[in-house]
Amino acid sequence: MRSRPSEAYIDGRWVQGAGGQLAIVNPATEIEVALALDAAPETVAAAVRSARLAFELSGWREAPLGGRASVIEAATDILAARADELAVLGTTEMGAPISVSRAMVAGSLALIRTYIDASESLCYSYIRRDAAGQSLIERGPVGVVGAITPWNGPLAATINKVIPALLTGCSVVLKPAPETPFDPGILAEALTAAGLPDGVFNVVTGGAATGAALVEAEGVDKISFTGSTSAGRKVGEVCGRLFRRQSLELGGKSAAIVLDDAPLEDTVRNVVSGNFFNSGQACIAITRVLLPARRAEEFIDAIAERTVALRLGDPLDEATEIGPLVTRRQLDRVAAYVGGALSEGATCAVGGVRPESTSRGWFFEPTILTGVGNQMTVAREEVFGPVMSVIAYQDEAEAVAIANDSAYGLHGAVFSADPERAVKIARSLQTGSASVNSSGLTPATPYGGVKGSGVGREHGPEGLASFLEYHAVVVPAEVADRRQLAGTPVL
Ligand code: NAD
Repeated sequence: MRSRPSEAYIDGRWVQGAGGQLAIVNPATEIEVALALDAAPETVAAAVRSARLAFELSGWREAPLGGRASVIEAATDILAARADELAVLGTTEMGAPISVSRAMVAGSLALIRTYIDASESLCYSYIRRDAAGQSLIERGPVGVVGAITPWNGPLAATINKVIPALLTGCSVVLKPAPETPFDPGILAEALTAAGLPDGVFNVVTGGAATGAALVEAEGVDKISFTGSTSAGRKVGEVCGRLFRRQSLELGGKSAAIVLDDAPLEDTVRNVVSGNFFNSGQACIAITRVLLPARRAEEFIDAIAERTVALRLGDPLDEATEIGPLVTRRQLDRVAAYVGGALSEGATCAVGGVRPESTSRGWFFEPTILTGVGNQMTVAREEVFGPVMSVIAYQDEAEAVAIANDSAYGLHGAVFSADPERAVKIARSLQTGSASVNSSGLTPATPYGGVKGSGVGREHGPEGLASFLEYHAVVVPAEVADRRQLAGTPVL
């Protein structure tokens, strides 16, 4: 396990930073395994200065797109050679079962390819003609990006910000979650080895105060934040005051609508994996499962049977399906939500307690709460743990109303034997995305929420666009004509 008690990655190398230290604790053993810098504002400021200078002078933003993509491809090869190390790191830092960590690393590397493909599909320069004249419109990098990530998918969250920012020509300062500080450093080393100019990508580790210093830092043009809705609100307020561009990928309370004709086995498999993947620590987890009242018992029995069979234990064991929660605080939070639900009238069909089979580690049994009402706290707030709330409904209209009655709007799912019927309902969900007869997203599907789930999108061309800014020049007709003849499109 690497340990970097006092260093930040600034200007293409590890340097001593100011600040305290973060203790990294393995959630399966409760043993401290490493230290990382808890960077003070002056170190954040130094990283932003480095990024600013690199943005102005390194030549990265002027480099042809193909040149930028080649550096990123070379870095991806270096990361691929370190995939095992990255997977073990994810498991040690945050407790994800090793099979989940491996899948997350492989998925993160595949994500890079989708961003490169998307960067080739965007139009960066075009002509607009109207009755009063013509203009040349260009889309260029927004500038210096401050990126802030959570712990639950450390490499993917890093890549979702750093790769589109770099492809568009931006410079970046990234602050990872204090629980998972090391993945971005490995990416930084790979990018430097692949030829990224010094200062274009910088990493400062730390907690909320370090993040807040980055959001406020002079010289930052855009904040790209992924985390909880409460922290996102604070970040958004500061960005509003400073007129700083922002994208906020926040929490969720997504609903899965199981229609009355849904096939039992496939639906149950998806609902269980869509809730308990990464021990329920996933923003798009479909944590409110809406069952038709007349088939509720049949589904609950099948969901319970599959959930009880999930293997909980040592996350480094290849057979483990449920690891520990990331921190003691998270474990206490999850237990409190379950206790609260029971006192509000829900029933615990499965789990609801810490497992007897483990003597240490922040484990919590996968839990199914039935008889949940959509007004109960457990149905309204994000638990971020292995807790499924089952809500019964009478008809389709009521199911859609329950799904949309939420402060969040990240994702949703609809299950039916008739996919077109399900698509119609999926389109009526007030969320950023929804899936039919599955629970997840593909790497190029636009990803982000409405309402309390945030502002903006990641993935694909939509994700890249959030790192681009427009600049328009009204030009004489002869300039537009000449450019058009040379191939600039008219849009
Ligand atoms: P968190 O909000 O506590 O922290 C997220 C990051 O923000 C961390 O790096 C943290 O240090 C930093 N931070 C906290 N307060 C800050 C502030 N005031 N200013 C600047 N930075 C600040 O969230 P978490 O516990 O690390 O992650 C879990 C949350 O992330 C869940 O709510 C989950 O739904 C959300 N999430 C959302 C997505 C998405 O794409 N929508 C993806 C993954 C996780």
